[in-house]
Amino acid sequence: MTVDSKFVVEGLDAMQPNPVCELNFKTPFELLVAVVLSAQCTDKRVNQVTTELFKTYNTPQDFVDMTLEELEERIHSCGFYHNKAKAIKSASKDIIEKFGGKVPDNFDDLTTLAGVGRKTANVVMAEAFGGDAFAVDTHVLRVSNRLGLVKTDNPNVCEDKLKLIFPKNTWSKLHYQMVLFGRYTCKAIKPNCANCVFSQVCANSGFRATRKNKV
Ligand code: SF4
Repeated sequence: MTVDSKFVVEGLDAMQPNPVCELNFKTPFELLVAVVLSAQCTDKRVNQVTTELFKTYNTPQDFVDMTLEELEERIHSCGFYHNKAKAIKSASKDIIEKFGGKVPDNFDDLTTLAGVGRKTANVVMAEAFGGDAFAVDTHVLRVSNRLGLVKTDNPNVCEDKLKLIFPKNTWSKLHYQMVLFGRYTCKAIKPNCANCVFSQVCANSGFRATRKNKV
């Protein structure tokens, strides 16, 4: 059975009428740093770390100037701190040397920065620059598969398919709706199917929630 994309949009609108980015930031650069830190980490933890970090360091030059060791220490609790610190310092250097100190406002340039993949670039495009972008993180990937919108574990394939299914002007909002829906309702373990408007859709797509399944 083909999934009715309009039904999905209406269902997400009903459950997540006003989705917002849960990361705290004041500038595109702060958002970029926060999104890099959010890989394999909760937004709540990232906000705790950046609340302190951005008091002292909030420009690309600040991050170039600080030592790798200090940055690692400050972001340690976000996990993967060594790689994240290297990526943030390297991206900061590129922003200064190649883009005049400003975070580039187009997808192709963003993805040339260290640590910035498609997901991060899409989030920055949508949230910092108001672009139409469909970032696919673990929640979007899981929800899209469960609803039968896609059948893939590849985020890039998922992104391409979702962009074909949904109108461009809905991409950014749908991204946040799926993230929040996946975070609080359609959770990896024990999704709350009893209180979900999509229970019939998932039944038709063949998904059955069990105590163990994560995908
Ligand atoms: S019915 Fe369950 S698995 Fe399907 S979208 Fe809703 S919460 Fe997720």
